[in-house]
Amino acid sequence: MDECRVRGWFIVVGVIGRHRIDRLLGQLEDANEQLVGLSTVDGLTELFNRRALMSESERLFALKRRANHRLAVFMMDLDHFKQFNDRYGHQEGDRAIRIQADIMRQVFKRQTDILGRYGGEEFMAVIEGEHADRFERLAADILEQWKQHAVPNEDSPDSKMLSCSIGVCQGLASDFESIEDMIRKADEALYCAKKQGRARYVMG
Ligand code: GH3
Ligand code: MG
Ligand code: MG
Repeated sequence: MDECRVRGWFIVVGVIGRHRIDRLLGQLEDANEQLVGLSTVDGLTELFNRRALMSESERLFALKRRANHRLAVFMMDLDHFKQFNDRYGHQEGDRAIRIQADIMRQVFKRQTDILGRYGGEEFMAVIEGEHADRFERLAADILEQWKQHAVPNEDSPDSKMLSCSIGVCQGLASDFESIEDMIRKADEALYCAKKQGRARYVMG
């Protein structure tokens, strides 16, 4: 083979090799994106999982504290969900958990709203806003959405429809020590909502 032909072959092999490497790199990037998604997203609801929820909330809190903006933390927990699971089964229970996630996506629409699954049937939303009235309206909207879904919970000792209770902590971010401080207060408000009879919200 003369030198020109050999060089030609090298170029062809080089181009094919380069093409394969580019393709492999693309596949690697896709796989990496999927992995990042898996590590931040809750599989059942496609909301943030607990870890991502906490890190995103901390980030938003730090930002809003510096600007002294108003922030709200909503803690939400399904009512008498043990009875629901026992009566209708775990799969229906999972479906109800997904309904809660859909309701949250419908009510908290802003791109900056942080929505996540805090634990089993407990959810959290962290949102910014100018007025406390708006937070209260959003909490009322969630309860209204559950009413419209009209999911039966026959064995519940209260209402025979599935509902959730909501505790809200809101205020200027600089009035709180940390996002954990806000979460704790929202949790206390949620506890009050449960004690007062469930299917309601309490503003902390
Ligand atoms: P309360 O109104 O006081 O909240 O009463 P509750 O019965 O809802 O009590 P609790 O919040 O302690 O109930 C949690 C139940 O949620 C128990 C558990 O079986 C169920 N649960 C937690 N995670 C899941 C899940 O991923 N899928 C299903 N189907 N059920 C779950
Ligand atoms: Mg519950
Ligand atoms: Mg619970």
